Amino acid sequence: MTQVFVVNSGSSSIKYQLVDLDTEKAVVSGLIERIGEPGGGAGDHTEGMRQVLDALGPDREIVAVGHRVVHGGPRFSSATLIDDDVEAEIDRLSALAPLHNPANVLGIRAARAALPDVPHVAVFDTAFHQTLPPEAYTYAIDAEVAEKYEVRRYGFHGTSHEYVSRQAAVFLDRPLESLKTIVLHLGNGASVTAVDGGRSVDTSMGLTPLEGLVMGTRSGDIDAGVLFHLARQAGMGVDELDTLLNRRSGLLGLTGTGDMRDVQEAAAQGDEQALAALAVWRHRIRHYIGAYIAGLGGLDVLVFTAGIGENNALLRRRALAGLEFLGIEIDDDRNELSSRVARFISPEGAPVAVLVVPTNEELEIARQAAAFA
Ligand code: ADP
Repeated sequence: MTQVFVVNSGSSSIKYQLVDLDTEKAVVSGLIERIGEPGGGAGDHTEGMRQVLDALGPDREIVAVGHRVVHGGPRFSSATLIDDDVEAEIDRLSALAPLHNPANVLGIRAARAALPDVPHVAVFDTAFHQTLPPEAYTYAIDAEVAEKYEVRRYGFHGTSHEYVSRQAAVFLDRPLESLKTIVLHLGNGASVTAVDGGRSVDTSMGLTPLEGLVMGTRSGDIDAGVLFHLARQAGMGVDELDTLLNRRSGLLGLTGTGDMRDVQEAAAQGDEQALAALAVWRHRIRHYIGAYIAGLGGLDVLVFTAGIGENNALLRRRALAGLEFLGIEIDDDRNELSSRVARFISPEGAPVAVLVVPTNEELEIARQAAAFA
């Protein structure tokens, strides 16, 4: 029995799974919330971690602990065994991900203290995208400023994009090295990645997870000049602008709700705001599909994953409608079949294999961590 304990630590929560790598199933999964809050279950992450491990009981055989870490900066291009130096570097990278990395470090410290005898492995959301070529990761700003402050495109959801692009090749029974793939990860957060022969060559998120597609509450792509305009004309400060773009924009900003199911329901009843928001959402996705086909020089596989991508046939169809001239077709019967496993939604023999592949970031983290056991 090879079990890996997978930890996703937030500022006031610990999400965890005990993954059995022989069956590839979660034996236990759970969430401790409101850590450190009055009436919450745990005073701090150390206490929370102890509760989690107590709940797992004594018959566990944990061979490694995999930690989801949001930002790996320019240094981490693959899963990394955590020692004091690596822990300190993840903490230092908090400058690039002030909401996420400090919380990840709290989880790492608590878990290392509670389970000192097994390898702890950091699996970074950015690592898969470290293969981006300079022309794809460079922002055209003053090079010295960029270097000093580590400003470049990093990309996120890397664990998901890596897992899904590999699973797609397995499903198709074709060598990953031979495939040009676009992965659409459409969840509450959303990103697109161009994968060439198993390597990420372009991705829509940037220095932070704000860039790219229209998301639940994030704007995605925007002219940076909008910020100067609002600072000058509306007197908005940095924190207000951060909140505006990260928490009050996207579907929420356009319609008043950030949940795609609600937006779609409203659209189905003819709500004009919802219809307009869906049009913007779709426009942005198609913009990236076109750009990435050009960048890849062709396309073999297009994959949908995450909450919206896995579950919403209508939005998948809308996103791809009219792209038949690129070899992208959808078979409505296949598309509407609901299932929890990888499947085709393009017709038999279509030039581009359009797939739905459920993502499983915990399993991927567990696999990568187990390599250090
Ligand atoms: P996260 O990005 O938080 O990991 P998920 O990948 O689980 O999220 O996706 C969550 C999002 O998926 C929610 O915003 C929800 O609205 C959306 N979603 C889930 N099921 C459907 C569905 N059937 N139709 C449209 N949206 C859906």
